[in-house]
Amino acid sequence: MARPTGGLIRVPTGASAVRNRAVRDRGMERQTAFSYRCAACSRCCYHKKIQLNPYELARLARSQYLSAAAFRERHVTDHVYLRQKSDGACVFLGAKGCTVHADRPLVCRLYPLGRIVDGDGEHFVELTPHPQTEGRYGKDGAIGDYLTAQGAEPFMQAADAYYQLFRHLGAASVPGAAGGADEGVSVALEALDLEGFVTAEAGRRGVTLPGSLEEQARLHCQWIGEMFASCPD
Ligand code: SF4
Repeated sequence: MARPTGGLIRVPTGASAVRNRAVRDRGMERQTAFSYRCAACSRCCYHKKIQLNPYELARLARSQYLSAAAFRERHVTDHVYLRQKSDGACVFLGAKGCTVHADRPLVCRLYPLGRIVDGDGEHFVELTPHPQTEGRYGKDGAIGDYLTAQGAEPFMQAADAYYQLFRHLGAASVPGAAGGADEGVSVALEALDLEGFVTAEAGRRGVTLPGSLEEQARLHCQWIGEMFASCPD
């Protein structure tokens, strides 16, 4: 991914996708000693505002055998946030923990870390845990090991690509980021349906669609960028 060379650019997953976060450490890198063992107490799955990018939404929608539109209708609020139950639990928290573990969003994979990408590159912060968390912190590994174990890499790549795209398009083009619906929201939501968009666009362009969702996400960013670039101001 092309990295920004100047200015402060924050990737809005990890740290900033967690409501009420409190940072108690800064400046950690992938080599920094860190380990965390989840005890499945599920306390971190309450009262979190989890924003989904199109890749995360597509992963979750596939896991539920739903189209992106049906998934948004059933499980998403304010266009891009996972719904919560009346007690503040994530809509996907079940009696035995996360019911979408294999397809959980990046913020859930990173927890209890947050990830920030800025002009100095990537760094990680440690979030203040729930006061009654049963998770075990340690130093018998590195942050990079933790990311690998959590399967975070494709999610970080997608987060970075979408963030760059949205930043390029401007906040007003991104549903949710502008604080609510606007005139372009239905068009934008169609464009944010990763699989629907790339399937239609591949047909229009007469190209074969790659099978992997990760490769489709890359094309999604590329083609949306091209589409907006060709629009008159
Ligand atoms: S998606 Fe799973 S891990 Fe993430 S908050 Fe919901 S229940 Fe918890």
